Amino acid sequence: MTQPQPPVPSFYFPAPRSQTYCSQCGSKLSRLIPDDDNRMRDVCTHCGAVHYQNPRNVVGIVPIWENKILLCRRAIEPRFNTWTLPAGFMELNETLSEGALREMNEEAGALVELGQLFTVISVPYAEQVHVYYLAKVLSPALDPGPETLEARFFELDEIPWDQLAFRTVSATLERYLTDQKNGQFGIHEFDMAPQTSV
Ligand SMILES: [Zn+2]
Repeated sequence: MTQPQPPVPSFYFPAPRSQTYCSQCGSKLSRLIPDDDNRMRDVCTHCGAVHYQNPRNVVGIVPIWENKILLCRRAIEPRFNTWTLPAGFMELNETLSEGALREMNEEAGALVELGQLFTVISVPYAEQVHVYYLAKVLSPALDPGPETLEARFFELDEIPWDQLAFRTVSATLERYLTDQKNGQFGIHEFDMAPQTSV
């Protein structure tokens, strides 16, 4: 089988969090601590706009069908061609559960019944918070979108641990397996430390 190739352009380069120009008036920004604040911000000294940057929320689902877990193989960077739980950045004006269901639909096209909140993971070094819900898949019919090369169900003992896309996905799946073994699902809130070695 030929190795799938990442889409063109094949690089992954999100815009930096610090800004150069004001989004309101186009003037060059200054990096300074505003009055009554305690940390550096990108401030427009022309129109006064302060460009606050805050953590981003990633929301996803642990989709279960007859004790199997649905995973998606990524067709996009970062981590092209690795397996992930359906998840992604929340959009503005949507709720957590709406975002989770939207990502589920976009990446796997599976019909699910949303269950309980399952993991809440602070990832301060990536400036993100990741949240996963449990969900029951209502039909094995899948219709993955363009962000997914392949979506399929895995038995719990065949999860591709060494080909998972993100550490929050591994951490969420580990807790799912433990709770499933214990017959009781909790809500797991924890922090992800930076990786110390590559
Ligand atoms: Zn400005």
